[in-house]
Amino acid sequence: MFTPPSAAQRLHLNFNENNLGISPLARQALEECLVQVNRYPDRPHGELVAALAAHHGVSPQQVVLGAGSSQSIHVIIEAVARRAQDRGQAAQVVMPLPTFDAGLTAAAARRLPVRGVPLLDNLEADLAALQAACEDFSGQSIVYLCNPNNPTGTVVSSAELKAWVQSAPDTFFLIDEAYVEFVDDPRFTPADAWVREGLANVCVVRTFSKLHGLAGLRVGYSLSTAEDAGLFASFVPEMPVNLPGLLAARASLTDTEFQRRSLEQTLEAREIVLETLDRLGLRYVGPNGNFVFHELPHSVGDNRSYRRRMRELHIVVGRDFPAYERWNRLSLGTPEEMRHMTAEMMKVLGALE
Ligand code: PLP
Repeated sequence: MFTPPSAAQRLHLNFNENNLGISPLARQALEECLVQVNRYPDRPHGELVAALAAHHGVSPQQVVLGAGSSQSIHVIIEAVARRAQDRGQAAQVVMPLPTFDAGLTAAAARRLPVRGVPLLDNLEADLAALQAACEDFSGQSIVYLCNPNNPTGTVVSSAELKAWVQSAPDTFFLIDEAYVEFVDDPRFTPADAWVREGLANVCVVRTFSKLHGLAGLRVGYSLSTAEDAGLFASFVPEMPVNLPGLLAARASLTDTEFQRRSLEQTLEAREIVLETLDRLGLRYVGPNGNFVFHELPHSVGDNRSYRRRMRELHIVVGRDFPAYERWNRLSLGTPEEMRHMTAEMMKVLGALE
């Protein structure tokens, strides 16, 4: 049942969360685990690792859990940079900008230089310029690439990316596939296949925060060679995910019915938004995530003033992205929420044109 948002209960469409909620199996696992939280979660840890290994067709030694994929991103950047420094090499982090913040914050915390590469005019990542930024540097380059990208929802061609990965064995690729399930673009294929094939310079991170809706439990993981996984694991505290997170993630992984419904509702919500943007004549890119990055009409001013207008209607939409102040990242809620949101959006943006 949809309740219109109010000052007491705003509609949150700003953090790319899953407003549908969580799998009933995950909920049951959470309820049942309360009596076990006095125990360390060694076994559930091993069981989730084994389930993920089976899911991706890799060995358990290739899977490292993190407290959200954000932790995995931090750990991997630190570990690869330290390995290079131990060999007497400098390290840099290369990424398209804008992208998800964890790559930047991980680099900043370790005082690693960042080569940020602006997006192309179509808001896709500029693979050629990213490659040039790596070739320009004699030390260890760590490429942080979200595919699809956040905030734009665009993908890079998997074939072109793989060709680069294969041609640059000394460059390390950290590929963030937080939104893998939502991709529509036929140029994309999931990069976990490259880990299965044994490409040694690639690592893929995934999360339970999006399709599975478990953002508050903080469960993510990486897939890499077993050797790299051993290195990454040495930078993560023992058992980084708590018992509720481990059990809920494992239950959710088996709940293909919830995953199907979650995807279906997100795609329906996306259609509602795209139809409205088309009616308003506003450009958008991608979209291949559970969000849509779209242009704002000149008359509304910048993203900040649009956000203020929507907040007056108790709707919280996405934040500022420097260099894209006339664009907004709108996270997708349930179809009912998006029907309400787009009706309000039509009033705010339509009336302004
Ligand atoms: N990677 C990308 C591209 C994201 O957009 C986000 C969150 O918005 C994350 C990772 C963070 O996921 P987690 O909740 O697993 O830390």
